[in-house]
Amino acid sequence: MSTLAAPPTTDPIPDLRAAVEGVVAGPGEPGYDRAVPWRLDVEVSPSAVVLATSGDDVSATMRVAAAHGLTVAVASTGHGALPIDESSILVHTASLTGCVIDPETRTARVGAGVRWQQVIDLAAVHGLAPVVGSAPDVGVIGFLTGAGVGPLVRSVGLACDRVRSFDLVTGTGEQLHVTPAARPDLFAGLCGGKGTLGIVTSVEIDLLPIAEIYGGALYFDGSDSAAVLRAWRRWTADLSDDVTTSIAFLQLPQAPDVPPPLAGRFTVAVRYASVGDPDAAEAELGPMRAVATPVVDTIGVMPYRDIGAVHSDPVDPMPAHERHTLLSELTVDAVETMIEVAGAGSGSPQAIVELRLLGGEMARGGAADAFCHRGAAYSLLTIGVLVPPVADAIPAHAARVIEAMAPWSTGGEFPNFSPAADPDSLARCYDEETRAWLAALAEEHDPNGVLRVGHVVRTPRV
Ligand SMILES: Cc1cc2nc3c(=O)[nH]c(=O)nc-3n(C[C@H](O)[C@H](O)[C@H](O)COP(=O)(O)OP(=O)(O)OC[C@H]3O[C@@H](n4cnc5c(N)ncnc54)[C@H](O)[C@@H]3O)c2cc1C
Repeated sequence: MSTLAAPPTTDPIPDLRAAVEGVVAGPGEPGYDRAVPWRLDVEVSPSAVVLATSGDDVSATMRVAAAHGLTVAVASTGHGALPIDESSILVHTASLTGCVIDPETRTARVGAGVRWQQVIDLAAVHGLAPVVGSAPDVGVIGFLTGAGVGPLVRSVGLACDRVRSFDLVTGTGEQLHVTPAARPDLFAGLCGGKGTLGIVTSVEIDLLPIAEIYGGALYFDGSDSAAVLRAWRRWTADLSDDVTTSIAFLQLPQAPDVPPPLAGRFTVAVRYASVGDPDAAEAELGPMRAVATPVVDTIGVMPYRDIGAVHSDPVDPMPAHERHTLLSELTVDAVETMIEVAGAGSGSPQAIVELRLLGGEMARGGAADAFCHRGAAYSLLTIGVLVPPVADAIPAHAARVIEAMAPWSTGGEFPNFSPAADPDSLARCYDEETRAWLAALAEEHDPNGVLRVGHVVRTPRV
């Protein structure tokens, strides 16, 4: 391995200010608070925050960091925040806000500071749609580089399957236009490899001709939750690929953005999104609507721009705890286990315990990429909000859920749902072969180890 000896760490701010056009902020200075992430539980206190205005700013930051023996981390919204200390400079992409839609080629060129809702709204004017996740206020690049599993994943595949090119700055500060033809290895590594290979400054993506979907959610009372989950298991066994669905045990707080019938009680949500004919979609949903009387039923034809309403994920920043695993199957025993450990009356302190049905186009797509989970059948995710009185109970309970479901787990994790602070989780995100080629590429393009921070795949240092 060609790692150079690190120079002693020294204050990078004067050199950054000389080299970078965007704002450079040290602790306590205006702009530094951009580092505060959406995930309020994560400590982010870099030696400096660089509000990059261009690829040149990112390149210059890489070079200054190398000269000062520092690493460089990247953040946009902080939805997937990593713990960052003073040994890193944080490149914040909030100023890279360009978003240009080309209705002729059905593409969008999107800057690294853009959130999905902006792309959705601009594309919708032309009856077009990007492939997005459950929460449209998540950042475009963080989601895409983690592969991106959304509420239409069975019909349209992963978000990374729709990327045409990335503009990348490597750890040496080199700026590369990465396409499947020109740089197939880097392109594959950026599709699933998160920030391992560098900082993406913009991306070109395909848009799909989807103006409306038939979607939303059925919410049932907690007393019906066991029956609803049992029925959902049977129903998901042979759904058409037009349909994507997930189910979530919810314990939502009394809060202004939570509809009163769902606040302060245990409910179960069946999320549903179909790109097929609305009448056929309604008929396919029929068995779930018949299981019990919903407390709230939001399912119908909706404009694509409202796709965030399918999951209705939390919007406001919060201290959260997540655990996640992928399942190879959902048997009768798996469902009973889940009811016992996380259902109504189980004492679960989690705000959300969710199962997503996978398969369909996700299983078929992807010739070469760093995403290793196309064969997974279901995704399981727990989300707890770290506030009293439940905060202390959340991590141990989440571990119990994952352990209880282990007999049906593939052992894998989506890079986007994997705990960023846990280095062991990389082995659950990427198989051995993928880790080996990603690490080799990372060493080739970042021999000084400037990007060795957070959830990145690297060759261990000797
Ligand atoms: C409420 C909520 C709902 C979610 N729903 C889904 C979902 O449905 N499907 C799904 O797949 N994921 C989902 N996620 C996970 C989300 O996609 C990841 O946390 C993602 O990393 C967020 O990206 P960000 O840029 O917004 O976050 P940030 O915290 O700003 O960035 C997180 C990481 O993304 C990478 N990254 C960000 N910007 C760049 C860049 N310019 N270049 C290179 N790497 C970069 C880095 O590794 C960075 O550490 C959800 C998260 C939340 C909180």
